[in-house]
Amino acid sequence: MKIQVLTNVLKANQTIALENRRSFEKNRILVLNLMSSPGAGKTLILERTIEKLKDDFNLAVIEGDVATTNDAERLAKHQIPVVQITTESFGGACHLDANMVKKATEKLDLSWVQILFIENIGNLICPAEFVLGEDKKIIVLSLTEGEDKPSKYPLAFRISDLLLINKIDLLPHVDTDLDVLLQNAQKVNSQLFPIKLSAKTEEGLENWLNWLVKEYQSRFQNNSS
Ligand code: MG
Ligand code: ZN
Repeated sequence: MKIQVLTNVLKANQTIALENRRSFEKNRILVLNLMSSPGAGKTLILERTIEKLKDDFNLAVIEGDVATTNDAERLAKHQIPVVQITTESFGGACHLDANMVKKATEKLDLSWVQILFIENIGNLICPAEFVLGEDKKIIVLSLTEGEDKPSKYPLAFRISDLLLINKIDLLPHVDTDLDVLLQNAQKVNSQLFPIKLSAKTEEGLENWLNWLVKEYQSRFQNNSS
């Protein structure tokens, strides 16, 4: 009985995610779903990304949080459109679903947006089960979380396209073995592409920005010249 309910919920979610997908494609938007545990640094990564790319691309953010608008306020300071989803009003859900994203996109001028970031709720479990209509899923993991997160929460790593290992400036100060971390990630998803960076010091940031620009160009700027 319970399994049936969950199956129906996920099916309904998938239907709305497909609608989102069509709308994103029609408007030629690259949509990225960022997932991580709380405190991995998604918001700071986005702040740095916005600073570097906002002159070249029309950016927008859908910001998910259970409560508070703190992160959305941080992002809005960079003068790009930010839509906050506070899941408290949806029963305190610990993940974003396609319907919440659909509602949020109604507040954006999609014909203007070129890259849309969706900052999911800090949680490594159920965000992985809910597709939103995104092009790519990005899992952010900070070095301070240790090397066994991919083994403990395999689904989030299995379904992701890109692994951002954040806070690498802390490498000399933590016990995390970066090689073992990368091996653990490869074990659950051999296609998962890793990028090491520090949003704080900006080390490695250009690798992430290059990935992003390439993703956008390969979709929407495919001219034969
Ligand atoms: Mg955040
Ligand atoms: Zn949840």
